[in-house]
Amino acid sequence: MNSKAKILLIYTGGTIGMRKDFDTGALKAFNFSKLLQRIPELKQLDCDIETISFEEPIDSSNMNPEEWARMATIIESNYVEFDGFVVLHGSDTMSYSSSALSFMLENLAKPVIFTGSQLPIGDLRTDAKENLITAIQIASLQQNGLPVINEVCLYFEYKLYRGNRTTKINAEHFKAFTSPNYPAMVESGVHLKMRSELFLAKNKGKELVVHKNLDNNVAIVKMFPGMSEAVLSAIFEIPSLKGVVLETYGAGNAPTEDWFIALLVKAINNGMHVINVTQCSGGSVNMGQYETSTGMKAIGVISGKDITTEAAITKLMYLLCQNSAQKDFKTSFETSLRGEIL
Ligand code: ASP
Repeated sequence: MNSKAKILLIYTGGTIGMRKDFDTGALKAFNFSKLLQRIPELKQLDCDIETISFEEPIDSSNMNPEEWARMATIIESNYVEFDGFVVLHGSDTMSYSSSALSFMLENLAKPVIFTGSQLPIGDLRTDAKENLITAIQIASLQQNGLPVINEVCLYFEYKLYRGNRTTKINAEHFKAFTSPNYPAMVESGVHLKMRSELFLAKNKGKELVVHKNLDNNVAIVKMFPGMSEAVLSAIFEIPSLKGVVLETYGAGNAPTEDWFIALLVKAINNGMHVINVTQCSGGSVNMGQYETSTGMKAIGVISGKDITTEAAITKLMYLLCQNSAQKDFKTSFETSLRGEIL
């Protein structure tokens, strides 16, 4: 019997599989089959690897809910056959995708690990090899015949993070991601340092449910001192808009001006979901701690607590398709569904 883990490598695009167009100097995606030829080391791993590629690999700036559904469908149709999945993805929107997929894949019992690189795999100084090889190694870890990881993660520059806790912080450094409010779950050094107490609990035999519908009638609004009523009301009056992730200051603070609260009251009364997240890179929203957030708390603004903006917007898109009443929506949003929030 073959006890080796079977890993499916899903190539969606991104720098990892790009090469330079020498006419323009710009990086462009290239044929995925060539990618594996460039890493013969993969054969040394103690697992069986199969690969599948998006027909047209994309720069992750072109990512959208249809592409997320494409990834979810690939995982769904190969779920029984494979023990783990490694998704090669551009780093630019990787945190959005790993957040989205965490919500779309309910009752996940196998690892789905996103990774990519800052330099193409063919580059002499590439970070792609370490990222790819260790991501596959972690995805193939098994204990008593079961996968060790059973959630959506992101592996980059020696660290495995919970995918929906991450954010891209640097466009140049190999350490491109951080997880401001949740520690790294695995650290790769001479050994893999596993912090299993941080992993999501194993799901007890529940079947995978794949949610492919996301509602993109949503917006992220970042507050800034001097933001005018005209600008904010123009956004909130967009006819199809159903939810807004409001990036406020510090522990969830915003102006106390009457027009601001009145605008939010009107939107919430019309069925809009407003989520308060902090524009700080770490820490949590705590509505009521300051006078500048008590008004929002009183009118039913949802607390994003310590969620990242990436997880907040994708959770909003997901929950909007679950058709819950406004009060239940608030409760669901403020509850951890996949370990994305306190
Ligand atoms: N622009 C690229 C992308 O996100 C950058 C990368 O792959 O890291 O697709």
